[in-house]
Amino acid sequence: MRWRLGAALALGLVVAAPAHAAPAKPTAPAKPTAPAKPTAPAKPTASGFPAHDPVREVTLFGKVRPGDAPAVATATTRGTWSADGGRLLPVFAAPPAEQLWFPKGPPAHLGDGLVRARVELGAGADLSILLRQRYQGDPPSVLSGYGLSLEGDVVRFHRWDRGMVLPMGPEAKLPVKAGKSPRGSVEIVVVMVGPQLLANVYDGDTLEHLVSASVHDTTYAFGCVGVRVGPAHDPKAAITLLSAMDAAKHAATTHRRTKGPLYGVTPPSDRTPFGNTRYAWIPAAATKRLPKELRGAVIPRTGVGADERAVMFLDTVGYERLRRSAVDVLAVDSNVPWSAFDAPFRRRATEAPARRGRGFVLDDSYKDPALVEQLLRAYHERYPAITRLVEVGRTHQGRTIWGLVISDAAADADEPAVLFNGAHHGSELLSIEYVLDAIDTLLGEYHRDPQVTAWVDGLEIWCVPLVNVDGNHMFVHESRFAIRKNAFDGDLDGVADPFEGVDLNRNYPFGWGEEGSSEQPMHKWYRGPAPGSEPETRAMMALADAERFAAVLSFHTYGTDVYSSYVVPTKRDTKPDVAKSIGQHIAAAAPEQPNARSYAVRKGPYPVAGSDQDWYLHEHGTTAFVVEGSHHNPEPEVRNAAVAATRPLWRALLERVHRGPWIGGHVRDAAGKPVEASVMVAEIQTFEGERWTTRPRDGRFDRAVAKPGKYTLVVQAKGRPAFERAVTVGTRRVDVDIVLPAG
Ligand SMILES: [Zn+2]
Repeated sequence: MRWRLGAALALGLVVAAPAHAAPAKPTAPAKPTAPAKPTAPAKPTASGFPAHDPVREVTLFGKVRPGDAPAVATATTRGTWSADGGRLLPVFAAPPAEQLWFPKGPPAHLGDGLVRARVELGAGADLSILLRQRYQGDPPSVLSGYGLSLEGDVVRFHRWDRGMVLPMGPEAKLPVKAGKSPRGSVEIVVVMVGPQLLANVYDGDTLEHLVSASVHDTTYAFGCVGVRVGPAHDPKAAITLLSAMDAAKHAATTHRRTKGPLYGVTPPSDRTPFGNTRYAWIPAAATKRLPKELRGAVIPRTGVGADERAVMFLDTVGYERLRRSAVDVLAVDSNVPWSAFDAPFRRRATEAPARRGRGFVLDDSYKDPALVEQLLRAYHERYPAITRLVEVGRTHQGRTIWGLVISDAAADADEPAVLFNGAHHGSELLSIEYVLDAIDTLLGEYHRDPQVTAWVDGLEIWCVPLVNVDGNHMFVHESRFAIRKNAFDGDLDGVADPFEGVDLNRNYPFGWGEEGSSEQPMHKWYRGPAPGSEPETRAMMALADAERFAAVLSFHTYGTDVYSSYVVPTKRDTKPDVAKSIGQHIAAAAPEQPNARSYAVRKGPYPVAGSDQDWYLHEHGTTAFVVEGSHHNPEPEVRNAAVAATRPLWRALLERVHRGPWIGGHVRDAAGKPVEASVMVAEIQTFEGERWTTRPRDGRFDRAVAKPGKYTLVVQAKGRPAFERAVTVGTRRVDVDIVLPAG
């Protein structure tokens, strides 16, 4: 293909005519995207297709959706045009000649912005989408401006200078598949910014990107949109959409600058981010009418409302294709709550806890705060003699953080205390299940399983399945973007923003503010304005201050890891690293998890600062671990397998605290009154100013040791001389009652 530049120059004012060396080669229809598997919700791929914007984009000709009334702008034309049923066609007089179509009016005259044209190719196109053109006369002549030409399978920019025409930039070719019928249609989108012109050509059916062309030219800044067809154009090849978006105009009217926390500018709509994905609800009955390739994007749903509305998980291209289909879109959002897709949860949420065996049905769905509370109450009512239901604290939004204490003894028993907690991160639903499973096992097996009986009789086992109550509520009921934080309305504007809130597991005071947390309120690791600033954190700290837990498991998802303190990189571990030894012991007790991996002890996946387990160890000498389960909110069968496969891990910890090797005991004065004293083990070196003191209410202490051996307790109480006690630890727990000499 060569442009007849000489001819154009010779004619002087005639618009250029491309010559055709060969007819357009047949092009292949676009490969349809493979439908997503119906079970797995569909991970749409990101795509940059510029979706038609009904607010900013003005249709000059044609229509976007099949049901739309076609627009036909008044136009200045050269030649004869037919505009029938939303198809703009050149009607060639014999012999075929160059024809022009220029819509009138402001949206057709623009400098910076977007121009979109959809072309049915027929047997081949010979046309240009004209950009920033000035012309003279009616019919128009003597063009000056730019054009994006589609000639057979060649795409290229040209510049007209008072009728003379120059090719610009390299040719791009539409992909052609041998032996396939011609492509049905293409959609051309040209973006113009100052001297930069960029054209993308997409398959008109699949909206798949085909080719791009770009040029830089400073000659023409402003002008008309139009269409030119040449003599080689198939008379049946039609324009079905021509639209324009004046970017300069919309920059002024829609980008309202308001003050906000991000760089001083927050777009007004940033609370419902779409990103590259869309959830689109359509009438359930309409799924049959979906384009074939879109059917795989329907997410299978059952339960309430599933027979009325179907939901599709789409990328930008899929959504645009849906929007252009004959199917009504009832609603579109990406800021959907977890519950929208968890039919078992929605069923379960309307029912009271159901008894099963010696406990309650736990495996039928994930839980929200209401279900957790109902279950804890139900267990307490069923086992009043060995449980206490305790309000551990309240959240920002006034919800209760519930704890269930399992012990044969009355309140404040003089027994070693152990804590299992879940969901410091509200979206980690499986972490709640691990704790509920511990409750169900301990209560159901009491007086049946001798180990369980011994633990319940000998220990105080605290279970707090849901620490981050507000964050969990927001994730389940308001926004899937609420991942881990506590949903605190940080800018106090009264709007629940899923990106606000504090990461409670970055808010504990030890190591607070160091690498592995963020000071940015919108960051997923936002550590809060001050150490222990959050009511949830403070509630858990107050509980630990009162109980002086011997051991703690904080369940999270996911990783199949046991994180052992200290995870904040700047802090030195105890020597020997007792926490690591015990972590290895409990990890080894668990079998392979349902992801075919086994629990392994690590110092965290990346730097973490301000976590609960570090604080527990540093503050009270508690042997504390984060347990990252094998999956994040998996299907029910996997959930059940994960819970069962993690049971031996927490059982191993209870057994270790209860049976040893371990050192426990009390520090009292001669009158038998508890004394607040620090009790350190001389053979366990510490480097971070640790000072582990006795439990105020009974003088109890619990000190883990890595292995049997001879140890020395160093006891120090205010106003009294330091006191040492040698202890020989075998395979069993050793309890030492220390009576401090008078000061
Ligand atoms: Zn977590």
